[in-house]
Amino acid sequence: MSNYKIDTLCLQAGYKPENGQPRVLPIYQSTTYKYDSSEHLGKLFDLEAPGHMYTRISNPTFEAVEEKISALEGGVGAMLTSSGQAASLMAVLNITSAGQNIISLSSIYGGTINLFAVTLKRIGIDVRFVTPDMTDEEIEALMDENTRMIFGETIANPALTVLDMERYSALAHRHNVPMVVDNTFATPVLCRPFEYGVDIVTHSTTKYMDGHATVVGGCIVDSGNFDWSKGNFPELTTPDESYHGVVYTENFGKAAYITKARVQLMRDFGSTPSPMSVFLLDHGLTTLALRMERHSANALKVAQFLESDDRIESVSYPGLESDSQHALAQKYLPKGCSGVISFEVKGGRDAAMKFMDSMQLAAIVVHVADARTCVLHPASTTHRQLTDKQLVEAGISAGLVRLSVGIENVEDIIADIKQALEKI
Ligand SMILES: *Cc1c(COP(=O)(O)O)cnc(C)c1O
Repeated sequence: MSNYKIDTLCLQAGYKPENGQPRVLPIYQSTTYKYDSSEHLGKLFDLEAPGHMYTRISNPTFEAVEEKISALEGGVGAMLTSSGQAASLMAVLNITSAGQNIISLSSIYGGTINLFAVTLKRIGIDVRFVTPDMTDEEIEALMDENTRMIFGETIANPALTVLDMERYSALAHRHNVPMVVDNTFATPVLCRPFEYGVDIVTHSTTKYMDGHATVVGGCIVDSGNFDWSKGNFPELTTPDESYHGVVYTENFGKAAYITKARVQLMRDFGSTPSPMSVFLLDHGLTTLALRMERHSANALKVAQFLESDDRIESVSYPGLESDSQHALAQKYLPKGCSGVISFEVKGGRDAAMKFMDSMQLAAIVVHVADARTCVLHPASTTHRQLTDKQLVEAGISAGLVRLSVGIENVEDIIADIKQALEKI
C-alpha cells in the first residue's frame, strides 16, 4: 500500500474490505464493543492487547480514516480529533506541562494564536512567538531547557507565508525537541512535511480534507522519526502510573507519541469525533488529490488575473513569481500552492466591502477551503475589533480580501470578480 502514489492512497488507503464485506467504509455507530471474557477486556485496559474498548478512545470507523491520513502523510500513526483546535491543543499538551514553553511562528491561524497566547498561558505554558525574519541565533536565545517544540504552519492562514521546514526542523533537532507543523492548507497532496524533517503534523480536517464544508474535525499524525530518549521527555520514556507503569517508548516504539496522545489525552479530554463525521471526512478524502490540483490551478489563474488588473492594489499568493514567498513555494510546494489568495482592492475598506457584497458566485462565509469559492473581509469580521492602524501592524490592511478559490470553472470565478470590481 505504501508504494502507491498519493492520489491512489486517497481512495485506497485505510479501509480494506475482506470477502463479502461492504465496499464502502461502514459507520460503526456504537459507543462500545463486546468481549467474551472480562480477562480479555482487562488486558485492553492495561494496553496489553490491541482492540477497541470505548469510542471515546477508538472506533473502527476512525481507525480506517486514521490509517488513510497516516499513509497520506507517510507517518506511523494518526489520531482523529473533534476539531482542528483540539488537534493543536493535544499536539502541544502531549509533551508540554505547566512551567514549560514552546516556540511558535507568529504567522499562524488566528484561532491557534488565541489558544497559544491566552489559554495555554492561563494553564502555565509560555508560548514564545518568533517571526520568519528572525535568525536562528535570535530564536535560540528564546529557547531553554524547558522548551518542548517548535510549531509553525506550512502555508500560514491568512498571512500565506511558506514555512522553511528544513531550517526550523534542523533548529529544533539541535535542541533535541520535535518540529510540529500544521499542514492544513497544503494537505499531504501538496506537501509532506515529514520529508523535510518535521516530526509531528496536525490538521484541521474541516478545511480541504473534508473539502465540502460539512464536518468540523482535526487530526494529529506522528512520523515516528523523533528519538524521544535523546531529549528530555520523561512522559514518554518513564512509567505512566495511570496504565500500571507502561513506558510508551518501550511498549510502542516509534508510535510512542501518538499512542500516548490517544490512550492518555483522548481518554482524559474526550475531544472525540463522531463516527458519522468521520465517514463524511473519508468521503472528502477520496477526492482530495483531484481537488487540490484544481484548487491550486484555479487560484494561480485568479491570482494572475488580479495581479494584471489596475483596480487591485496588491496580491499575495505564493504561486505568483512576484510573491515574496515564491522561492520557498518552489521548494516546498512544487505541485501547487493551494486555493487561498489575499489581495487588496484600491479604495480601502469601503471598496473592499462593496466589492465583496457585489460578488454573486463567491459566498461571504467564515470558512476557507470549501469546494465552492468563498470570500472573507478580515477587517470587518475576524479582525473587526482592531483599528485601521492596528490592522496595518497585524499585516491586514483595511482593503484586504481573503479569497478561497473553489473548484468551479475558473472562467466563471474570474467573471464574477470582474463584475464585482466594476461595481466599486
Ligand atoms: C481552521 C484552522 C484550524 C482550526 O481548525 P477547526 O477545525 O476550525 O477547529 C487550525 N489551523 C488552521 C491552519 C486552520 O485553518
